[in-house]
Amino acid sequence: MKILVINAGSSSLKYQLIDMETEQVMAKGLCERIGIDGHLKHSPLVGGKPVFDEDLPMPTHSEAIAAVIDKLTSPEYGVVASMSEIDAVGHRVVHGGEKFASSVRIDEAVMAAIEECVPFAPLHNPANITGINACRAVMGDVPMVAVFDTAFHQTMPGKAYMYAVPYEYYQNDGIRRYGFHGTSHRYVSSRCAELLGKPIEGLKLISCHMGNGSSICAIDGGKCVDTSMGFTPLVGLPMGTRCGDLDTGVVQFIMNKYGFSIDEVLNILNKKSGVLGVSGVSSDFRDLDNAAAQGNDRARLALDMFAYWVAKVTGSYVAAMNGVDAIIFTAGVGENSASMRASIAAYFGYLGVSIDEAANAKRGQDIMISTPDSKVKVFVIPTNEELVIARDTRDIIG
Ligand code: ADP
Repeated sequence: MKILVINAGSSSLKYQLIDMETEQVMAKGLCERIGIDGHLKHSPLVGGKPVFDEDLPMPTHSEAIAAVIDKLTSPEYGVVASMSEIDAVGHRVVHGGEKFASSVRIDEAVMAAIEECVPFAPLHNPANITGINACRAVMGDVPMVAVFDTAFHQTMPGKAYMYAVPYEYYQNDGIRRYGFHGTSHRYVSSRCAELLGKPIEGLKLISCHMGNGSSICAIDGGKCVDTSMGFTPLVGLPMGTRCGDLDTGVVQFIMNKYGFSIDEVLNILNKKSGVLGVSGVSSDFRDLDNAAAQGNDRARLALDMFAYWVAKVTGSYVAAMNGVDAIIFTAGVGENSASMRASIAAYFGYLGVSIDEAANAKRGQDIMISTPDSKVKVFVIPTNEELVIARDTRDIIG
């Protein structure tokens, strides 16, 4: 079975074609500047075919999908002979609200429910819907599955997902913590249980997804019991450009003082804050490491704040679960920054964590970075959201 995984954004579309017999990625690529002009980078990973990396007109997502199918099946760049070899498509969908606690085969009712979640994710869900519709138009009745970023977090108890605001906002409007990065937290937690050689049902795990966007998830017995992102992905940890947790009084103060609209303030909090805002240097942790090494105090402060927040939220989840067996680092920063992992782990002395420096210096693989006698194990596990989407699609399509 071969499954095409699609992650559609408003002007971009990422894809992977995965052979489910071997779980090998056969080809992957990225369409960019859809609706502007259009560019496709297509990389075949089997068969020794060359990379295609050129401008192509893409007025809408339909032309983008058509270009992807064309390249996947072309004699020069292709990895399959025809579209009929693609058995199913798995789509990443950002927000499933309270409607979806797991992945689901797409039909008209599912499309209507994803549409109903648009107010919760006004930038992301419309792009996901456009991607699904374009795929259906180009690929006809090939079965399709939706995999939601929010679904894994639907097991949170009310005490974790409720905000302490008048109850009717939850009841009438669905105002609550939803959480994001669920596919990533699900993948790394189940992989961690495999690496520990224990059933996940008996484990307490904390997964730290640290990339441009960052979130932490408490996973008890394989189920999410709390997570740091909320109604939107703005809160929790300070991130590349997002502010993380913030007293809402600050919003009112800035609006009044500078005469900003709420949209202007939210733009600042989403795009100009986080480690970029604090450092004034960059949202990229590599740039911050370099600047801090050259004595830039604000870059150092931004890095210190990030490590402190990860440790603080992780500690709160140890309390929430009354213990933890393993802590997982994943995503761009978690997988690549040995110094950030070491800074965070330095807070975990009270848990009996001890880090193996040589193991922590390695990169790009599933690895236990704690010493054999560490009371709580610490892992680096590269995330693989596309594989989860492909596996769910296979399981649902049968
Ligand atoms: P996204 O959230 O967009 O999926 P990623 O998970 O790919 O992002 O993470 C991207 C971030 O990872 C970059 O902004 C960069 O800060 C960080 N990163 C990548 N490599 C390194 C590295 N070697 N050292 C520190 N940070 C890194």
